[in-house]
Amino acid sequence: MTREPIVILGAGVGGLAAGWFLARTGRFDVTLIESAPVIGGHCGSFLHDGFTLDHGPHKMYSAIPGVLEELRGLMGARLLTHRKRNRVRLNGYLLEYPLRITNLARALGPRHFLRLGTSYGAALARGLVTRREPASYAEYLARRFGRGVYELVFEPLAWKVWGDPAGLHPEMARTRIPSSGAAELILKLLRLKRESSETDAEFFHYPRGGFGDLPRAMADEIARHGGRILVNARTRQLECADGAVRSVRLEVNGGPLTLPCRYLISSIPLPVLGKLAYGEGDPEFTRAVAGLRFRHLVLVYVFLRVARVLEDHWIFFPEREFIFGRIFEQKLMSPEIGPPDRTVICCDFTCSEGDDIWRASDDDLAARCVAGLVKCGFIRQEDVQGHLVKRSRNFYPVYDLDYVSKIRLVSRSLQRVGNLLTTGRIGMYNYNNSDHCVDMGRFIAEGLVRGEAPPRIWERLERRAATYKIVD
Ligand SMILES: Cc1cc2nc3c(=O)[nH]c(=O)nc-3n(C[C@H](O)[C@H](O)[C@H](O)COP(=O)(O)OP(=O)(O)OC[C@H]3O[C@@H](n4cnc5c(N)ncnc54)[C@H](O)[C@@H]3O)c2cc1C
Repeated sequence: MTREPIVILGAGVGGLAAGWFLARTGRFDVTLIESAPVIGGHCGSFLHDGFTLDHGPHKMYSAIPGVLEELRGLMGARLLTHRKRNRVRLNGYLLEYPLRITNLARALGPRHFLRLGTSYGAALARGLVTRREPASYAEYLARRFGRGVYELVFEPLAWKVWGDPAGLHPEMARTRIPSSGAAELILKLLRLKRESSETDAEFFHYPRGGFGDLPRAMADEIARHGGRILVNARTRQLECADGAVRSVRLEVNGGPLTLPCRYLISSIPLPVLGKLAYGEGDPEFTRAVAGLRFRHLVLVYVFLRVARVLEDHWIFFPEREFIFGRIFEQKLMSPEIGPPDRTVICCDFTCSEGDDIWRASDDDLAARCVAGLVKCGFIRQEDVQGHLVKRSRNFYPVYDLDYVSKIRLVSRSLQRVGNLLTTGRIGMYNYNNSDHCVDMGRFIAEGLVRGEAPPRIWERLERRAATYKIVD
């Protein structure tokens, strides 16, 4: 049987998962085009100063039926299993996460704790008389948890990750903060109700050799099923006829190449895909795609001449005095990622183009991270051996108040190309994790095998992706 040619743009986990599921059907001839010299995107690992490092804290977990089983099947004995230990720092205390009411009361003091209870009561009373849907992230959470909890945790968290919470769509809260309301939160605080597997991963997996083992395993499967991945490859043009992409013209290591294409799947940024598909020829589309907002990711790795530092897999820092939103020591995930007598802490945070953080020098960012770690008592200045700063543009989609109409316009325009599909976090402009990328790849492959039209698969996938939740 002749296999139908499929071209996939981008070899992060979004593109690789689609390639893996499609190649293993035996019905498609899969080629991935990756512009970077290496595969894996943000789920890849890289070598630095004797360590195998990830792009920030990555755990392997999924609440989507069947996805974790697929990943276990793929990775086998390479996966380690951990019982999750997370904490959050509030008011100078490190509190177990999920929170316990006794810890929270101790950290906040009785007055503050009482104020939270009163503001929750007020929110509950207002909820009884208000029928209107919340208009923003801020209103959604203040209504559910009361102003007190909102101001303590969710407001500073939003400022750190996405910017002004008043300008964020309520969907940002629904996807990112899955707890259904203050009543449920209090039941969980009192331990009268357990977190569900959809909101909290009690156990998770991690690949022994770093998270980059996952994209590598996917790439191996693609190759085993006759597919190929071209790295250092620049897509120059999509050649279209009769409303579909017929071939992709690219440049690989300086030489030209043309790939025939029955279907095109993209996991690259929508503005880049839009330009390839339409050039600047559609002003309304160009305006909508330019209006999609992203935050940039900054990772500061602090190298230490001590064997281990933290007890938790990661610790959250909603408070403004710390530049980072979270810290993570990868050696807790797998001791094999670095030398036994040294360790590294990764601090992650986000920022916007041109703001103070984006313009700050690497040395300045590292100094602010080290100062925060010292202040918390995690490290001593004299144990710091060095640092590495990585910046990554446009990785956090920002759901602003009119993102729904903008993304709808963008995807409806692109769906006019009858054999095009998008997948992944940036490709779909969807705030999601790697397990969701796996689910998207599986969903696309099943749709194409059934012979469904790509615009129909795309619409169904959008509805499915809207239900994804990030599990901490
Ligand atoms: C700090 C942090 C913590 C996270 N924690 C977790 C976690 O615990 N668990 C989890 O499952 N997920 C986690 N994630 C999310 C996970 O990293 C993403 O869901 C995943 O990496 C998205 O994959 P992707 O393929 O959509 O995008 P990317 O990883 O960005 O891959 C896109 C690929 O496309 C390539 N590309 C771009 N432009 C072009 C072009 N023009 N032509 C060809 N190729 C191109 C890029 O080089 C890249 O390789 C975390 C992310 C971050 C930043």
